[in-house]
Amino acid sequence: MTHATLSPGWAGQRIREDQITRYMDHGRDFIEEAQIEARLKASVAEPDPRQVRDILAKSLAIKDLSLDEVALLINVHDKALLEEMRATALKVKLKVYDNRIVTFAPFYLGNYCVNRCAYCGFNNDNTSAARKILNEEEIRREVEVLAGRIGHKRLIVVYGEHPRNDVDYIVASMKTIYDVKVKTRHGTASIRRVNVNAPPFSVEDLKKINDAGLGTYQVFQETYHRDTYARMHPANTIKGNYHWRLYAMHRAMEAGIDDVGIGALFGLYDWRYELMALVAHTQALEKKMGVGAHTISFPRLVPALNSIIGADWPYLVGDEDFRKIMMIIRLAVPYTGMIITAREKAAIRNDALMMGVTQMDASSHIAIGGYADSVTAQHEDKQQFILGDTRTLDELIRDLAGMGYITSFCTAGYRCGRTGRCIMDLLRSGAEGKFCKLNAVLTFQEWIDDFAGEDTRRLAQPLIDREVGEIKARQPQAFDVFMDYHARIKKGQRDLYL
Ligand code: SAM
Ligand code: SF4
Repeated sequence: MTHATLSPGWAGQRIREDQITRYMDHGRDFIEEAQIEARLKASVAEPDPRQVRDILAKSLAIKDLSLDEVALLINVHDKALLEEMRATALKVKLKVYDNRIVTFAPFYLGNYCVNRCAYCGFNNDNTSAARKILNEEEIRREVEVLAGRIGHKRLIVVYGEHPRNDVDYIVASMKTIYDVKVKTRHGTASIRRVNVNAPPFSVEDLKKINDAGLGTYQVFQETYHRDTYARMHPANTIKGNYHWRLYAMHRAMEAGIDDVGIGALFGLYDWRYELMALVAHTQALEKKMGVGAHTISFPRLVPALNSIIGADWPYLVGDEDFRKIMMIIRLAVPYTGMIITAREKAAIRNDALMMGVTQMDASSHIAIGGYADSVTAQHEDKQQFILGDTRTLDELIRDLAGMGYITSFCTAGYRCGRTGRCIMDLLRSGAEGKFCKLNAVLTFQEWIDDFAGEDTRRLAQPLIDREVGEIKARQPQAFDVFMDYHARIKKGQRDLYL
């Protein structure tokens, strides 16, 4: 793939060719387009149900699927077989993650961006976007609402690519976020895990970001299809370099970042191809860097201001295919976190729970400064796209509790070394569940006491009591310590974890 030269100066210095080529094999990357297309074509007839069931048994044994197996699942159309796939996806989720769901909020710190992605409202050509970047005081005010009023413990902080929010700004803003402490009904609250969705960086810059207390580092490839990538990202922009982005996570791991999140923007190109490529990406990370992706995101394209993509775009993904994408990801990488955001409507997000999704956001505002403004309306000129699910965290938790799910605010993993290869092995073996269950219940209790509305408490407290009973029966050796922590939380102590 050829790249137009970037203008000299800031943009021209960002891409380090040596930090791309060193991960390649004899100059080749890991996305074998022809092979992906061939695999999809090879299993184009309706697959044999026995073969499908063998694959499902493999997923249920918490084993990764091969690309051939993923292609075969993609080609299942029989309704009864699809329902078996969905039911197995849920079983896999429950086996690895039990009835826990993790919640977070997106936090957009600015909308300056030098890139010109054809689908994004922040793109540099969009003259109708009101540009803003939050200063320290504004960040503090946002976090006071996020952590102190809503009760979030995890954020995905989102950055455009621009000299105004380069690595020094990212590091400083992460420090500001972690520093905010707010008094709550019974204790204090703060953000305990800052995940970052940002452009690709050099290894040197990624080390700085990691040292600032990074949780997961997310970069979505958007599309793995080279021609479509070139159409969406002009060649004379930084993002126009397909390989700089494709190896962002290899560099992150070299920089010591254990948890990386990959994703594709579904709707830019054929979803079957993107799904295969996503699985190829996590396999490539595992092969070369020793551990695959910690999370996979599958954002679906939504209309944005000035986007070139209209309703007649041929690759837009309908709900039925979108459900299939989710269940196949769950089956293909059984222990990897799956994130669905409030881009999607509540009904689809509820379906996603039945297909193995593990993380979702709530009370989300993606307008810059939207939390402190308590903006309830959507502000199209200041945000990247329009949200599909505007439920508050309290409402989401109530809905989840009604479905038997407990919401985990646990952030212990990365703070006591259960990250990267270690967490993936624990999840594969089922051992992580032992810590997670205890910490999930403790942090859920903490949230209920500090933030729940009356209706939510009424639904959630019996769920917690039931979980306590389960811990007593299944983990008797940990029960006394757990109950001691639980009692301390009831008295207002915060941030206790096992
Ligand atoms: N600027 C960074 C980058 O591009 O990697 C991170 C921020 S960007 C705002 C985060 C993600 O939003 C992108 O990776 C893309 O997948 C998603 N996105 C952009 N436009 C979108 C749209 N119209 N609908 C849905 N998701 C979109
Ligand atoms: Fe900038 Fe990211 Fe939007 Fe592209 S997707 S225009 S890089 S903010």
